[in-house]
Amino acid sequence: MKIIATLIVFLSLGAVAQKGSKMESTISLGESTVKIIRQFGATNDSILFINVHEDEQTSIDAVEKYAEDRPLNFIRLAHLKSRNVSYQLNGKEYIVDPNRIFTAKGRKATLKKQSQFSYRAARAAKRLANSLLTHISHEKIIIAMHNNTDVNYTIKSYLPGGDEAENTADIHISEAWDADDFIYTTVPAYFTKFKALDLNVILQDNEQCVNDGSLSVYCGQRNIPYINIEAQKGHFDEQLKLIDLVMHALQEK
Ligand SMILES: [Zn+2]
Repeated sequence: MKIIATLIVFLSLGAVAQKGSKMESTISLGESTVKIIRQFGATNDSILFINVHEDEQTSIDAVEKYAEDRPLNFIRLAHLKSRNVSYQLNGKEYIVDPNRIFTAKGRKATLKKQSQFSYRAARAAKRLANSLLTHISHEKIIIAMHNNTDVNYTIKSYLPGGDEAENTADIHISEAWDADDFIYTTVPAYFTKFKALDLNVILQDNEQCVNDGSLSVYCGQRNIPYINIEAQKGHFDEQLKLIDLVMHALQEK
C-alpha cells in the first residue's frame, strides 16, 4: 500500500493520536488520490464509525454532531464528493463503488458495472479496500453510516419477494419509523435489542447473502460485529436519534 503522507493535525501534535484528534492519510490510485480521514475516540473505545460514500452528507453530519459530546472513532473517505471513486491507469478511467470493493468478486462486478474491468484496476481497488480494512478488526464494532435516496430502496426491500430478500435472515418493521430509516446488522443479539426498541431492523443472512463486496458481507464472513445505520438523505434528526439509540443499546449488557 502506498501511503504518501500521514499528517497529524488539529489538536494532536505528538506521534500518538489523542482523543478528539484527526489524522489524514492519502492513497494514490494511478494519478488520482483518495484521502482517509480518521477521528479518534477514547483509547478504550471499541466502536468504529465508517462512511465510504462521501456524498451521503447527512450521515457524516449526524456522526460529527454526536461526536461533539463524545469523541468517536470515525473514518471516512474524501475524494471528489461523489459516491463512487474514479481513477486513471494507463490512460483508462476506472470507477468503483467504494462499498463494493471488500471482496474479489465485488471488485470485479463494480468495475464492470461502473466502468470496465482490468486486473490492475482491481488491484488498485484492493489497495483502497485494504487501507480501510487496516482499521477494522474483531476488537471493534463497526457502525457504517449511509443515506438512501432511491425511492425503491427501503426496509421493505428486505421482505420476501423484495430486491434484497436473499440477504435477510430476520426483519422487524416498525410502525413508528419511516421505512427509509433503518438498521442493518450481522449480529443476531443486536437484532434482538433493536427489535425490542421497535426500530426498523434487518438481520443479514451471513451464510446466504449475496457476495456484492460490501462491508457488511466482509464482516459477516468474518464474524466482525457490524451495524449499518441507514437514513433517508436529509433525515438528520432521525439518523442522530438512531445513533443515540444504538449507542445506548450497545452499552447495555
Ligand atoms: Zn452509502
